[in-house]
Amino acid sequence: MAFELPKLGYAYDALEPHMDARTMEIHHSKHHQGYTNNLNNAIVGTDLDGKSIEDILANLDMSNGAVRNNGGGFYNHSLFWTVMNPEDRGYLSGELKNAIEAAYGSKDEFIAAFSKAAATRFGSGWAWLCAHKGGKIEICSTPNQDNPLMPGVSCGGTPILGLDVWEHAYYLNYQNRRPDYIKAFFNVINWNEVERRYAEAK
Ligand code: MN
Repeated sequence: MAFELPKLGYAYDALEPHMDARTMEIHHSKHHQGYTNNLNNAIVGTDLDGKSIEDILANLDMSNGAVRNNGGGFYNHSLFWTVMNPEDRGYLSGELKNAIEAAYGSKDEFIAAFSKAAATRFGSGWAWLCAHKGGKIEICSTPNQDNPLMPGVSCGGTPILGLDVWEHAYYLNYQNRRPDYIKAFFNVINWNEVERRYAEAK
């Protein structure tokens, strides 16, 4: 069963002005579609065919570049679209709010720490908020399309929030101003979805 590009759940222009429509369209319909196609091509006829993407990533042979890059790209973007929303975003609350305050002191300090992880990722990659069993949370970042589910990356737990800091995610609108893009991300986070993922992961 081949992987399919997930639908966005909102229009390409729905996150304007924070995420511009042209970037969203290219990012979803070209980049994410490309990772999806290449992942399918890499696993067809192998023993990975038919497994869930979480299973594939958790048991990945990291020397398998095609599955590492494209499986990561498929999973990472699938998460990314769901943690943003033009409406019904909710707000940081409940057990996740408690965990964030326990780890970082306040929501603002959490935002500062996450933003730093995203801003200081050299080259292409992702910033993550991950949840561990028991409820502890952790901010980290990974290069390229690596992902906290993969073995041996310096990042553990289950990702519950992710920010793509590849230039293709922001260059049309923000050019070299990655910090402005990171700031804009916090205007469109779907906290309801992040909390749902936290409850599931912890
Ligand atoms: Mn991307």
